Amino acid sequence: MRSPMRTVPGPTDHVIVVGAGLAGLSSTLHLLGAGRRVTVLEAGPGPGGRAGVLTTGGFRIDTGPTVLTMPHLVDEALAAVGDSLAARLELVRLDPAYRARFADGTAIDVHTDAAAMEDEIGRFAGAREAAGYRRMRAWVTELYRTMMGRFIDANIDSPLHLLGPDLARLTALGGFGRLGPAVARHFTDERLRRVFSFQSLYAGVPPQRALAAYAVITYMDTVAGVHFPRGGMHALPRALADAAVAAGAELRYHAPVVRLERSAGGRITAVRTADGERLRCDAVVLTPDLPISYRLLGHTPRRAVPLRYSPSCVLLHAGCDRTWPDHLAHHTLFFGAAWERTFDEIVRLGVPMSDPSLLVTRPTATDPTLAPDGHHLHHVLAPCPNLAVGSVDWLREGPRYREQLLAVLERRGLTGLGDAVRVEHLVTPADWAAEGLAAGTPFATAHTLAQTGPFRPRNLVRGVENAVLAGCGTTPGVGLPTVLISGKLAAARITGAPRPVPAGRTTRRPATAGAGAGACADTAAAGGDSDTAGAAAAPQDGARDGAQAGTREGARPGAAVLGAPAGGRAPSVGTGVAG
Ligand SMILES: Cc1cc2nc3c(=O)[nH]c(=O)nc-3n(C[C@H](O)[C@H](O)[C@H](O)COP(=O)(O)OP(=O)(O)OC[C@H]3O[C@@H](n4cnc5c(N)ncnc54)[C@H](O)[C@@H]3O)c2cc1C
Repeated sequence: MRSPMRTVPGPTDHVIVVGAGLAGLSSTLHLLGAGRRVTVLEAGPGPGGRAGVLTTGGFRIDTGPTVLTMPHLVDEALAAVGDSLAARLELVRLDPAYRARFADGTAIDVHTDAAAMEDEIGRFAGAREAAGYRRMRAWVTELYRTMMGRFIDANIDSPLHLLGPDLARLTALGGFGRLGPAVARHFTDERLRRVFSFQSLYAGVPPQRALAAYAVITYMDTVAGVHFPRGGMHALPRALADAAVAAGAELRYHAPVVRLERSAGGRITAVRTADGERLRCDAVVLTPDLPISYRLLGHTPRRAVPLRYSPSCVLLHAGCDRTWPDHLAHHTLFFGAAWERTFDEIVRLGVPMSDPSLLVTRPTATDPTLAPDGHHLHHVLAPCPNLAVGSVDWLREGPRYREQLLAVLERRGLTGLGDAVRVEHLVTPADWAAEGLAAGTPFATAHTLAQTGPFRPRNLVRGVENAVLAGCGTTPGVGLPTVLISGKLAAARITGAPRPVPAGRTTRRPATAGAGAGACADTAAAGGDSDTAGAAAAPQDGARDGAQAGTREGARPGAAVLGAPAGGRAPSVGTGVAG
C-alpha cells in the first residue's frame, strides 16, 4: 500500500513561485489548474531561465537546451489550465533524431521509427547488430514503463515507499547495474554502444558509472523521439508563460527575490524582492539553483556525503554564412576516438577533453527563420569539467579553447567553419558560475546513485513547512522532461494529488481557502537529506548580465557576443525571521 504523500499544511491560497524557468512555469500552470492564485517572481528579463534566447545580428540563438523529448509533459502542464500544446506551439519531430559521426569517418542516423532504425543499423553494422537493437529497444521501453509513474513522476517521501513489484521489476530488468555494460550486452559494435549510452552524460554521469536505469533517457531520445518547436526552443517557455498569464498568473520579471520572511512557527509569510517590495504569500515554490534556494531558506539539509555536481560545458554559438548539410543533421554527435579517457578527463582529472566528443546542433536545418537569409546557426556543445574538479582559468583559456573546437570540427569535415562565422557567442564554466550556478555547471547535481530518486535532494525541506523546491537540483532531476515533472510534483505538494482537468475547461477559478491542507505536516527527510541548522546567506545569486550586445530573454551567461564582454552583478539573498 502506498503511503499518503506529504503536503504543505495550512492555507495555500496564494503561492509565490520564484523563477520562471521551465520548472517554475510548469508549477505555476499546475497550481493555477488547482485553483491557486499564483505570482511568479523572476530575476531575469523574461521566462525560460536556462532555456533562454539571445537575439543578435538577425540570429535568434537558443542559449540552453536543444533536445526536446517527451513533449506530452508540456501538453500536460498546459492542459492543467485548459490550454494545449497544439494551440501554442508547432512542434517538428526530428528525423533523424541525431546523426552520429565517428573518428573512423563512418556515420549513422538515429531514427526513432523501429523499422527505419533496424534498416540503418543493418546497413551500418550488419544484421546481428540490428537484432541487438531490437532487444535493446524492447528493454529500454520496458524500463521506461516500469520507472516513469513510480520512480520519476512521483513524490517519494522515503525509499521504503518504493518497495513493491515495480522495484522488483526494475531489479529484474537490471536497472541497478551499470549502463555501459547493460547496453554492451546488446551490441558488439563499439560505435553503437556509444550511440545508445552517451545519454547518461545528460544526467552528469559517464555510461560506465551510471545506473542502467538511466537508459530511460536513451528511451526518451531514441525511441520516444526528439522534437523542435518552430521559432526555436525558447518558444517553449514563452508559450508556457503566455498560457500562465492567460490563466490568471501574475508574472513579474526583473524581480530577484532576496529574502523570505518567516513566522516564528516556521512558515514563510512574505517574499522580498531586490527593489524592496514585500509580497505576502501562503506558500512558496523555489526553483533557483539548489544552493540559492537553500540560502533563501536559511537552511541547507545535511548530507552524509557532500553533493557532487555534473560536468559543465563550453558552448560556442556560431552564426555562419554557410553550412555543411552533408555532414550535419539538426543534431550531430561528433565522437572522438577516445571514450573512457574522455570521461576520466572531465570527471576525475578536471581537464578539457584531449580528443573531444561534441554535440553540434544546427537548428536552421529545421527552422531557417532563426537566421538571416543565407545564414545558418550552429551550436557547439563541448562537455568539460565543472569548477569543483577542474582548475582551468576559463577567462584566459576560453578564447584558446574556442580555436581548438573550430580546428577539431574543421578536421572532422566542417571545412572553412572558422572563416564562416559572422556572429558568435562563447559560454564557459566561468560564465555559468557568474550566473550563480554552483560549481560552474548548468547541469546541477549529478545523478549518481546517492543523488538519484529518493536520495536526490528532496523537494520538501525540514523546518520550513510551506516551501517546496522545484527544478533540476531536486527530484526527479536535470533536463526538460524532468524539470517539467518537478514543477508538477511541487504543485502537488501544495494542492494534494492533481485532479484530471476536463479538456477545454479554463481553470481561472477562485482560490479555495485552505485547500490542500496537508495530510502530514512533517517534512522530515528520510533519505539523502538530513537536517542541520540553517546555512548563512551568501551574496552572489542570480547574476544577470546587461553588458552584452544583442538582446536576451531568460537569463543566460556569455563570454562574448562579437567580442562584447560579459558583465553581471548579483543581488544578495537572505532569510529573515519576522513575527
Ligand atoms: C547549455 C544547456 C544545454 C542543455 N541541453 C538540454 C537538452 O538538450 N535537453 C534537455 O532536456 N535539457 C537540457 N538542458 C537542461 C535543461 O535546460 C535544464 O535542466 C532546465 O532548463 C532547468 O530548468 P529549471 O527551471 O530547473 O532552472 P532554470 O531554468 O535555471 O530556472 C530557474 C529560474 O530562477 C531564476 N532565479 C534564480 N534566482 C532567483 C531569485 N533569487 N529570484 C528570482 N528568480 C531567480 C533564474 O533566473 C531562472 O530563470 C540543458 C541546459 C543547458 C544550460
